[in-house]
Amino acid sequence: MLEEFIHESRVAYFSMEIALRNEIPTYAGGLGVLAGDTLRSSTDLGLAMVAVSLISRAGFFRQEIDGNGHQLEYEANWEPQRWTQALDAKIAVTIEGRTVWICAWLYVHEGYMGGRQPVLLLDTDLAENDADDRKITHYLYGGDNIYRLKQEIVLGMGGARLLQALGFTIRHYHMNEGHSALLGLELMRRYTYAPDDLRPGESPYDLPRVRDMCSFTTHTPIEAGHDRFPYDLVYRLLDSSFDIATLKRLAGEESLNMTRLALNLSEYVNGVAKKHAEVSNAMFPGYRVHAITNGVHPFTWASAGFRQLYDQYLPGWCHEPQLLIRADCCIPDEAIWQAHQLAKKTLIDKVAELTGVTLQADIPILGFARRMTAYKRPDLMFSDLGRLQAIARNQPFQIVLAGKAHPHDEMGRQLIEQLHAHARALAGSITVVYLPDYDMALAQILTAGSDVWLNTPLPPMEASGTSGMKAAFNGVPSFSVLDGWWIEGCIEGLTGWAIGDATGMSNGDMHAFYDKLDDVVLPLYYARRDGRWIKLMKGAISKNASYFNSHRMMRRYGTEAYSR
Ligand SMILES: *Cc1c(COP(=O)(O)O)cnc(C)c1O
Repeated sequence: MLEEFIHESRVAYFSMEIALRNEIPTYAGGLGVLAGDTLRSSTDLGLAMVAVSLISRAGFFRQEIDGNGHQLEYEANWEPQRWTQALDAKIAVTIEGRTVWICAWLYVHEGYMGGRQPVLLLDTDLAENDADDRKITHYLYGGDNIYRLKQEIVLGMGGARLLQALGFTIRHYHMNEGHSALLGLELMRRYTYAPDDLRPGESPYDLPRVRDMCSFTTHTPIEAGHDRFPYDLVYRLLDSSFDIATLKRLAGEESLNMTRLALNLSEYVNGVAKKHAEVSNAMFPGYRVHAITNGVHPFTWASAGFRQLYDQYLPGWCHEPQLLIRADCCIPDEAIWQAHQLAKKTLIDKVAELTGVTLQADIPILGFARRMTAYKRPDLMFSDLGRLQAIARNQPFQIVLAGKAHPHDEMGRQLIEQLHAHARALAGSITVVYLPDYDMALAQILTAGSDVWLNTPLPPMEASGTSGMKAAFNGVPSFSVLDGWWIEGCIEGLTGWAIGDATGMSNGDMHAFYDKLDDVVLPLYYARRDGRWIKLMKGAISKNASYFNSHRMMRRYGTEAYSR
């Protein structure tokens, strides 16, 4: 089963979550979608990779929302045997002194160009394990700190051991976020100096060798966001054979900080946008954090109509998305508009199916969908309902929202309730719908079918953001706060618009949002027959989709990170 994959050396890509396809709910949001796009682009580019993640049998969760805007959570159980094949190898790790067996399921990603790439989904649900241990790989981001550390032991150490047991030759390891940093400990155990070569008191671990083999991408722009485990917990759970003095030197004295561990064990460290690399460099002085700005997978995120259009006017775009730079002069305005109308109709149909509400095709749709959490500030545009209504009176618009809150994120859940309350308050003047159970399929429909893509994060919290890039592939301009990728992507009036200045929005800047919506965005939409709106759509494609794609991102990882 694995023969076709083990003859060639590969990059092992470790990620706690990965969006392989819509039917497999092993992802929670942008991080997992990025992991999926990483795999998809490396497949198309012929960059041999093996992705390692958890089986997450109960998924993240399936979201329903009741009449009051309460989020209801259900297990998103899926059947691994339907999409993957069980591998008959298993390995063990020690957790809390017990032996925990780990097996894996093989998912084979098939690229649109015929490439095939293996993904190992780790699973502890084996009869030989304790009842509790069988659940370690069950819930994505579920449970407490103890559960999380167990998962990270399975992912990092278990994943590295299983790759070896299965006969993979790994030329480089890439940690997507700090969750998998324990894999570095496994490599340290593997690569030690011969005792004869050691001077007394010297560490036996061949750290330079481990560092050369590892790259790390950090995604978290604030100190509090990093996974951290108290050492008493670490002592209790982790295999005691590991030298704790070395561990503290690498992972922090007070607690085990997964980001610090990954930083110390990786020669190449990357932030996910230029600003995020700067923020990370300031947060971790003494390390060099590079910037390979994120991108999205061209074939996955261009809607059917735009794929067809690009195939016709810019053949080869899907493998070399740089070709989209010519979209502004090579594609007729009318064809762009038609492709967008098609995507908009798909969205309108979906909204009708999910909510019973019929949106109007000739009124602009403002789209906002992503994980619902405080720093994303989804409620910001509703700060002044009166103003919003006044604007809509002369220049009507419709709003489509979607997103899940982490079940433990009380603020996020409250935001969903507040958004529903705003929608009720605006009924009759502005149509606002909230689509339940945001996932990849819904993201494809929403980012393509909206007329304007909104984002209002609190800087510098949006490390990159990727949904606006998906919108760009469909000619949808962004109207966003200058943070993450948008600092690089925004050319005012050509690819979209900035909200406020780079310092983030104070309440004063909130008025800037309303003013620009009223004075610039909506008038341009309603005057589109003079071609200026289409120019903007083409600007999003030619200036942004041509660059903010995961092919460019992976070509850079391939040459700058993996090839050392
Ligand atoms: C792209 C995507 C995200 C990330 O959206 P951001 O705006 O970058 O936060 C989250 N969830 C899903 C399902 C996505 O497809």
